[in-house]
Amino acid sequence: MRLFLVEDDRMIGESLRQALRDEGYAVDWVYDAQAATATLMSERFDLVLLDLGLPNAQLWGNGLDVLRALRERRDTTPVIVLTARDAIGDRVAGLDAGADDYLVKPFELDELNARMRAVLRRHAGRGEPVLEHEGLRLDPATRQVTQHGEPVLLSAREFAVLQALLTRPGAILSRAQLEDRLYGWGEEIESNAVSVYIHQLRRKLGPDVIQNVRGVGYYLGKPPPKQPK
Ligand code: CA
Repeated sequence: MRLFLVEDDRMIGESLRQALRDEGYAVDWVYDAQAATATLMSERFDLVLLDLGLPNAQLWGNGLDVLRALRERRDTTPVIVLTARDAIGDRVAGLDAGADDYLVKPFELDELNARMRAVLRRHAGRGEPVLEHEGLRLDPATRQVTQHGEPVLLSAREFAVLQALLTRPGAILSRAQLEDRLYGWGEEIESNAVSVYIHQLRRKLGPDVIQNVRGVGYYLGKPPPKQPK
């Protein structure tokens, strides 16, 4: 999952980015409305965390302007607005401008995570939050994975890779698409990182659960039938 964080407070931004990365999200972060709008016009994200009070607002606009511009382009990327405690008007304005939810600062990371999951679930049109395929079951809310009822312990990044593959079983995801879900801008990417996580997943789930299409990518499902000789 790729998140876009718009937050001018460096301390909040830094701790939020780190915490979300630890949860296995790829996080990209900008500090002002100008950078936010420019980025949102050129890149796709699964979810935006948007602070409303942003610097140099007279020139560049604030978070609401970013949100309105996004919705005017008919971009439906989910947005959670982050607002100050006393700014009730901001929350209403944010929701009216097309935000999917809001959080009042300071907030607990657990609550942010729960709201992000809820928003992503609604956005995906899934009433059922649990992903299932061939005896494999992944619950984004509890972050639990089971295989034929047996619990499987995964690291945050192994979980992120499996979640990406389980969202569309049978669909091939390229190495670049998987890296996108694992890493934000400027994060050091080991060239073989995806292969390593796939290797670990196969070790834990069995060699036949994830298939590699050489030079194309990976998918969750059965291996292709053998060609007759
Ligand atoms: Ca701010």
